[in-house]
Amino acid sequence: MIKIQNYIAGALHPPVSEKYFDNINPATGEVYAQIPDSEAQDVDRAVTAAKKAFVSWSTMPVEKRSLILNKIADLIDRDHQKLALAESIDNGKPVKLAKVVDIPRASANMRFFATASIHFASEAHITDEDAINYTTRTPVGVAGCISPWNLPLYLFTWKIAPALASGCTVVAKPSELTPMTAFLFSSLCMEAGLPAGVLNIIHGLGAKAGQAIVEHPDVNAISFTGGTVTGKKIAATAAPMFKKLSLELGGKNPNIIFADCDFENAIAVSLQSSFSNQGEICLCGSRIFVERPLYEKFVDEFVKRTKMLTVGDPLDEMTKLGALVSEVHMKKVLSYVNLATTEGGKILTGGNQVHVGGRCADGFFVEPTVIVGLKHDCRTNQEEIFGPVVTIMPFDTEDEVLQYANSTTYGLSATIWTENLKRAHRISSKVKSGIIWVNCWLFRDLRTPFGGMKQSGVGREGGWDALKFFTDTKNVCIKL
Ligand code: NAD
Repeated sequence: MIKIQNYIAGALHPPVSEKYFDNINPATGEVYAQIPDSEAQDVDRAVTAAKKAFVSWSTMPVEKRSLILNKIADLIDRDHQKLALAESIDNGKPVKLAKVVDIPRASANMRFFATASIHFASEAHITDEDAINYTTRTPVGVAGCISPWNLPLYLFTWKIAPALASGCTVVAKPSELTPMTAFLFSSLCMEAGLPAGVLNIIHGLGAKAGQAIVEHPDVNAISFTGGTVTGKKIAATAAPMFKKLSLELGGKNPNIIFADCDFENAIAVSLQSSFSNQGEICLCGSRIFVERPLYEKFVDEFVKRTKMLTVGDPLDEMTKLGALVSEVHMKKVLSYVNLATTEGGKILTGGNQVHVGGRCADGFFVEPTVIVGLKHDCRTNQEEIFGPVVTIMPFDTEDEVLQYANSTTYGLSATIWTENLKRAHRISSKVKSGIIWVNCWLFRDLRTPFGGMKQSGVGREGGWDALKFFTDTKNVCIKL
């Protein structure tokens, strides 16, 4: 059985406690690897290594850092098939999705920030002829990067790439539910010649290993992606220590469909925004609002196409929905379906666990589920389910749908479908979300600011925002 190891000071190490816990394949329910149960001592070793490496990494010419990060990207591309398979086994997602989305995006993240850092220029502000100001940005030191299970290597690299490119050294922790690709990544870093201690990867439980990273006095910045409840805990620990903090948290995103939309496009993309990655994407549009004249036609067609989505073995290339990440998560998702019925919802399709059979007989599969008949303010429509469950509701006016869309404590993303450009601008400006997609979904340009409003987060990732986060700003004013 594979024994995952921590990556500290350029080499693989068992946890200090020598204790491990099980890594379960969610498609089969079988234990297939062992995960280090790391604790504060492991984190302390990693931080010591990162502090030591900071001196030379932060002063290395940026072009040289860039070459090493690009080399890691090349190695991800070389191992594309192997990493995609590992991601699928660890997370339950269809291997095809991992091949097309997760792994290519991981190498794109590395390459994007490796090259961006070369172009990261200082700013100057000239005050008439009296003074010149110039602004420098220097790496903050050791950064803690903590990532979730839904897009494991994709989100892991999305954090560590800008941190390393800015000249920070890193102590990172992937989710304990999906540690495998981060473990494989440590070998790629060694092969690429990343100097010892520049990146350290600690595996283990959030409340133990993760908390120890956040609490460590020599970790200067925390970049976290995960649930809002965990984000609150992290903020409560990090804020009194005055650490820089970036929080990418949960969502309950509206998908607003006006009657004048391009119907075929809206239906096809809404199926993706509802059920891609089993609905386990923070950006999924789990609340669909349809303008009344289109409502019945949309619901009929959407349900018809939802029924055609194959739930099955993630390793089968024909599978559209794989397993949910864990039994606990599957039960949580099914409990929300139950809640929806008690709140008066009508399930038009789905709602049950799927028994796939064969090697996946004990896996954690759920049918894609469509629910109607619920009010916008019930718990099903207010709380993040993070599974293949969507609700559809009709609306009559722009004011009404804006009230519905903005009624949750979240504000991550929103999708708007209309052929009316003025309306698209109007609604975009009034929806309280950090990311708006008009006539598309998850159409990404890595230069754009990425993050949420309200309880969906603090700060922005992507482009210059990410590079700025991992640097300290200093302004020098010279009176002429
Ligand atoms: P989670 O909050 O349970 O865990 C995320 C990470 O934090 C894991 O690595 C976990 O081990 C660690 N952790 C847990 N407790 C910790 C603590 N006290 N201190 C430090 N680290 C701790 O989230 P999850 O269940 O892995 O992921 C799902 C959530 O992530 C959903 O809410 C989803 O919306 C959100 N998410 C947000 C984005 C975004 O960009 N906004 C992207 C993906 C997922």
